[in-house]
Amino acid sequence: MTKKIAVLPGDGIGQEIIREALKVLDCLRQIFSVEVETEEALVGGAAYDATGTPLPQETLNLVKEADAVLLGAVGGPRWESLDYSVRPERGLLGLRSELSLFANLRPAILYPQLAEASTLRPEVVAGLDILIVRELTGGIYFGKPRGVRTLDNGERVGLNTLVYSESEIRRIVQVAFETAMKRGRRLCSVDKANVLECTELWREVVVETGRDYPEVELSHMYVDNAAMQLVRAPKQFDVMVTTNMFGDILSDCAAMLTGSIGMLPSASLDEHSKGMYEPIHGSAPDIAGKNIANPLATILSLAMLFRYSFNDAATAARIEQAVNAALDSGVRTADIYSEGSRKVSTSEMGDAVVEALRASA
Ligand code: NAD
Repeated sequence: MTKKIAVLPGDGIGQEIIREALKVLDCLRQIFSVEVETEEALVGGAAYDATGTPLPQETLNLVKEADAVLLGAVGGPRWESLDYSVRPERGLLGLRSELSLFANLRPAILYPQLAEASTLRPEVVAGLDILIVRELTGGIYFGKPRGVRTLDNGERVGLNTLVYSESEIRRIVQVAFETAMKRGRRLCSVDKANVLECTELWREVVVETGRDYPEVELSHMYVDNAAMQLVRAPKQFDVMVTTNMFGDILSDCAAMLTGSIGMLPSASLDEHSKGMYEPIHGSAPDIAGKNIANPLATILSLAMLFRYSFNDAATAARIEQAVNAALDSGVRTADIYSEGSRKVSTSEMGDAVVEALRASA
């Protein structure tokens, strides 16, 4: 049955990078008979300009009806003075909550060809391939009570609450185990169970859930140690699972091990593996419209879409191998350029991936 992808280019470089991912999709349709249709809609600043809201009802209808969502990026200086409620980023948060996307998957992969791009020594990171599963709709970012209050004595107090129910923990941990089963079958759960009772419960639920996945080697690590290990010896990890805030911090740290924001995809999934796929970077207003942005994070997001929402690991691998082959051929966008390679534009990088895909047929 033909699957449908809702395509939301968004703002800034969003249009340029999504165009390249769509080229790859076209090639998959033509050469490999992949049955997928797409429909575009507005989100973010572009949607605000056209309709007065960053997440129009029409877009919401489309993403709910589609089987998966591919997003470029939202935001930019043009919309920064708007009221918070209609800022482009609200469109993104609205999509996450309307689609109940509680599981955020962020791989940090360092292609051996780009080992020099990392701030860490090449031997520490070359071939790095880890995946962080972050809980996205609960924990301290959403817990109540919250706010800043003034006590009777006039002193102000800021308050946030770390709260997780057993079911919230179980569903994210299940995603992590399932993901580990599709990769290297090793899962490290990150918590602070020595200090925070909430994550003591987290650890208990992880252990309970792990009984259903005897093939997965489970370990636990305190978050402070995990941060240290990520920069000391990151290749020890396969899949990591953690709370919203710990995941926010650790996934940025892991991403930067690879040194190139333009290479990293992400997936946000609901409980039926319907998902929204997007590069981890933003709309890069400083380079928008110049045809120099790196489209590979978006193309790799498309690969994740096939793997996680369409359960089509073969097509996902085909795309990833084409990216690898394009890098092997020596082409580099400006953000990953180093001496000896060939500097190319956004569209030329997309063409190189399509060419590699065709060559693999
Ligand atoms: P950014 O990720 O857009 O850019 C940071 C730096 O990385 C810039 O120098 C940019 O040129 C570069 N960069 C980013 N993507 C690149 C790519 N594909 N190729 C080459 N270089 C790339 O972050 P920012 O500048 O902090 O934010 C810009 C806007 O994006 C803001 O409005 C912010 O709110 C928004 N934003 C959106 C998302 C999202 O849509 N998911 C995420 C982060 C930031």
